[in-house]
Amino acid sequence: QIPFGRRLPCDIYWHGVSFHDKNIFSGQVNKFPGMTETVRKITLTRAMRIMQDLFPLEYDFYPRSWILPDELSLFVSQFHTAKDSDPSWKPTYIVKPDGGCQGDGIYLIKDPGDIRLTGSTQSRPAVLQEYICEPLLVDKLKFDIRLYVLLKSLEPLEIYIAKDGLCRFCTEPYQEPTLKNLHQIFMHLTNYSLNIHSGNFIHSESGNTGSKRTFSSVLCSLSTTGVDSKKVWSDIISLVIKTIIALTPELKVYYQSDIPAGKPGPTCFQILGFDILLMENLKPMLMEVNANPSMRIGHERELSPGVFENVPSPVDEEVKVAVIRDTLRLVDPQKKKKKDTHLEDVRTNRSAKGRLRCITSLGKETNHSLECSSWATSDLKQAPEASEKLPDAAKSVEAALPSVCLRQVFPKYASYFNHLCLMDKVAALFIHFLGVKGTTRLGPTGFRTFIRNCKLSNSNFSMAAVDILYIDITRRWNSMSIDKESGMCLQAFVEAFFSLARKKYKLLPLQEQVSMLIEFCEKRVAALHGRRLVWGCG
Ligand code: ADP
Repeated sequence: QIPFGRRLPCDIYWHGVSFHDKNIFSGQVNKFPGMTETVRKITLTRAMRIMQDLFPLEYDFYPRSWILPDELSLFVSQFHTAKDSDPSWKPTYIVKPDGGCQGDGIYLIKDPGDIRLTGSTQSRPAVLQEYICEPLLVDKLKFDIRLYVLLKSLEPLEIYIAKDGLCRFCTEPYQEPTLKNLHQIFMHLTNYSLNIHSGNFIHSESGNTGSKRTFSSVLCSLSTTGVDSKKVWSDIISLVIKTIIALTPELKVYYQSDIPAGKPGPTCFQILGFDILLMENLKPMLMEVNANPSMRIGHERELSPGVFENVPSPVDEEVKVAVIRDTLRLVDPQKKKKKDTHLEDVRTNRSAKGRLRCITSLGKETNHSLECSSWATSDLKQAPEASEKLPDAAKSVEAALPSVCLRQVFPKYASYFNHLCLMDKVAALFIHFLGVKGTTRLGPTGFRTFIRNCKLSNSNFSMAAVDILYIDITRRWNSMSIDKESGMCLQAFVEAFFSLARKKYKLLPLQEQVSMLIEFCEKRVAALHGRRLVWGCG
């Protein structure tokens, strides 16, 4: 902790909340610029929707959602159309305020008329989402999975997933939502922060009982009932990779703005918390992504009114200590140096011993994890661990540490997912035309340059029409946005890009239209650069 400021550069910076220090020029920071904004409920919903438009079958793990208040009338009219065609249809929806956490301000509805549009928390922008009425139950209780994911690098994309996570249980037996039980948060919301206040909450010393359990123990007991745990894991890995692919375009825009290319800036990594619900049919559904998952390994117990005691939580400790330990192992600059030079340096050895002591003092390790639910899946095979590439001295230190809990899933399984990275290419075009470094918004001139350079204007689409398109889309997006920056944000540019693609390649499916326009633009930009290069060579 550096309460009075830092004088010397560090090799790893561990920030508490977000990437906020513009005076870091080297080393690695544990936060990505813009991550908090990117995973907010509304931004995440928009990013997922873009991917659902392009790849509906691949992105069916995120519930259908509407953004309030902007899409209220759209939702109401879709609701009534569906209801008119099937009067027996009785859906349930969940309303979640944007930027909220720990279940704050969340409520369930069965009728659009119950959406609360006035009052302090209720008037906040929110996401309205189809409620998953048939979750998988264990001991008659609804639960969700908190999984820890390390985004180790954005470019190239590197993702690791922890072998074990936490299952957070409701504290009232689950019943399908009815008007009577809609308000029972202990039945419908799995948040620990809410259920801890229920008289039924069970603190347990062991990871396989109580209101918070390890995912491995839940999976283990499910597999005794015939559940295919390999398939569950395979689907979860796929959900995580696809979600991060949906987030990377936005993150890249923030990254180039805060850490411009060519500058000796720091690199970033970040531990994310994925909240996943298993449906009765075992399909995992994404609830949300947390940029700042709680790393607490204890809870408070009220001894007498107002007097609290901190009690260790072995379940949290088992899962979270391993995540932080492995993150540090993976980003360890010493290890990188060792790998680069292959030198057996005594000094390094000593510091490694120091690290070992520090790790053991963090908490006892258990070998319980995933004994019965194999992580490796038949269709997704693991490659050798990074430690195999280490020199001998480092290997012996590695061998003394508990087994690795973070497993690489990307680029390891990249070949299954590369076709989904279309939006990265759109973001690359957007960043190319941003021009001024340090910005995340495209101005009208940048947009015009994009149209001109890519030769997208013609007799049917004049430059005046281009300006109107820019103004229309930008004005609408800026009226919905919370920050009042001017210019076109990436998601608005994507909307403009889709509209240009539809115009240019009529009648094709959207995915093909967008792919073709990307290819078209990339060729134009490359040709332009080629020509410039030739001119430059005289
Ligand atoms: P918060 O950030 O406030 O925790 P979440 O989106 O994680 O908001 O939702 C809180 C809880 O509500 C989830 O952990 C889950 O139990 C429940 N929940 C959220 N969305 C849905 C949904 N679409 N269907 C069923 N349950 C949901």
